[in-house]
Amino acid sequence: MTVPQAVLGRLKEAVGIKGFSDDPSEIAPHLEEWRGKYKGHTPLLLKPATVVEVSAILRICHESGTPVVTQGGNTGLVGGQIPIHGEVLLSTKRLNKIGAVDERGMTLTAEAGVTLAQVQRAADDKNFLFPLNLASEGTCTIGGNIATNAGGTHVLRYGMTRALVLGIQAVLANGTVLDMLRSLAKDNSGYDLKQMFIGSEGTLGVITAATLRLFPKPDVAVTAFAAVPSPAAALTLLGLMQARTGGMLSAFELIPRIALDFVTRHIEGTRDPLTAPSPWYVLMEATGGQEANLAASFEAGLAATITDGVASDAVVAGSQAQAAALWKLRESISESQKREGASIKHDIAVPVSTIPDFLARATPVVQALVPGARAVSFGHLGDGNLHFNFNAPGAGDDPAFLTLWDEVQQAVHDIVKEFGGSISAEHGIGAMKVATLPRYKSHEELDAMRALKNAFDSKNILNPGKTVPPVLRL
Ligand code: FAD
Ligand code: ZN
Repeated sequence: MTVPQAVLGRLKEAVGIKGFSDDPSEIAPHLEEWRGKYKGHTPLLLKPATVVEVSAILRICHESGTPVVTQGGNTGLVGGQIPIHGEVLLSTKRLNKIGAVDERGMTLTAEAGVTLAQVQRAADDKNFLFPLNLASEGTCTIGGNIATNAGGTHVLRYGMTRALVLGIQAVLANGTVLDMLRSLAKDNSGYDLKQMFIGSEGTLGVITAATLRLFPKPDVAVTAFAAVPSPAAALTLLGLMQARTGGMLSAFELIPRIALDFVTRHIEGTRDPLTAPSPWYVLMEATGGQEANLAASFEAGLAATITDGVASDAVVAGSQAQAAALWKLRESISESQKREGASIKHDIAVPVSTIPDFLARATPVVQALVPGARAVSFGHLGDGNLHFNFNAPGAGDDPAFLTLWDEVQQAVHDIVKEFGGSISAEHGIGAMKVATLPRYKSHEELDAMRALKNAFDSKNILNPGKTVPPVLRL
């Protein structure tokens, strides 16, 4: 697609000299994403610094029918933020102001381009917790987190990003500003419009700011790494530990032995914290207040699960440094998988109680398609969300292995559907899964999505071709 020079001129004028770039070296890092799967091109990078500028940009794009892709930190994993068809690119990096913490109301308002780590720090400075945690937190933005309804390792306790947002300011495709920066926990005055933008992946509007919920910072965190014989035992452990801690678990992550092998092989300073190998592990954390004596309940509960044979062994972190070392094992899995060579990845969810059955059913199906594929299924067991990943059988197999991506993915996603699950638990649909979505969502749901898209963006200028599958005309 080609954007007329006259339109580019109007866009530049709307944001002023600091607000755009057509310098290829400045634009280049915005055109490729983390996994190197999608490459884009754009005639213009726009860097608005205010909501008024965002509104002016979108008004011009709407009038002229110019497609625009919004980009935050460019850490998205489904290509949603990349201008694949030569769209104008709107970066939120100059929407970077962060407001003061409202200590009594326990809220914080930040512009969309503020990084997640900056939000976490601002909360922490006032002794509050903003509980969203992602390995990309130094780079991803709060606008991107909201647009993707990001998850992470603390969803079990605090919910997805959706649960952390009280108010939103967003600009519609035609430039209309919806100022809904309310800090209300309760508001049933009609449709809750902010929800439309949460998880909309840049297809319904540009989020320019948000009011976020903060939480009391827990003064106790207990972290343990437990060996379990099977995913079914891990599930039993989850129920027992939730009961023993009065629902205070904040993370419950399943880790297979192979992932621990990869991490200890490739990531400096890591080691197996237990003496004997086990096929599966769980990294869990509970947080709470000092007075409730959470640590004692947690440790007694864990000891009981070992006595009962649910867990075979466990180590409880005795210090913050030990807890950090245990978390490093979990957080390094993606990186260590990369160092082992190519992998085919799935970001799936199934009902929590069916995780063991899903693993038992889907793993051999992939291994029948790719003999020797190494299953590295790990993740957020407590949320029913697994990163159901496979590494190539061995070094040198990568190119042939990757040609099987679509076939493997379809086989896995078909099983996910059988289980009543989702083909995207955390990362979204973006460009990566838009073509396959109709196989897994009903016509009725897809039609409702299209109707919503049309109501918010009648000219289809916002992230066209992503997330919302077009109607197939036969
Ligand atoms: P971008 O990548 O820039 O954009 C993502 C999508 O949001 C695009 O469709 C874009 O158009 C849209 N968008 C961005 N900003 C706005 C805005 N202001 N208004 C409207 N639309 C907008 N994700 C998880 O959920 N859980 C994880 O644990 C997790 N771990 C990760 C670890 C690593 C190492 C990496 C690289 C990524 C990880 N991700 C994870 C994915 C990614 O970090 C999240 O999706 C994140 O929320 C994206 O934020 P971003 O600012 O980088 O958005
Ligand atoms: Zn995850």
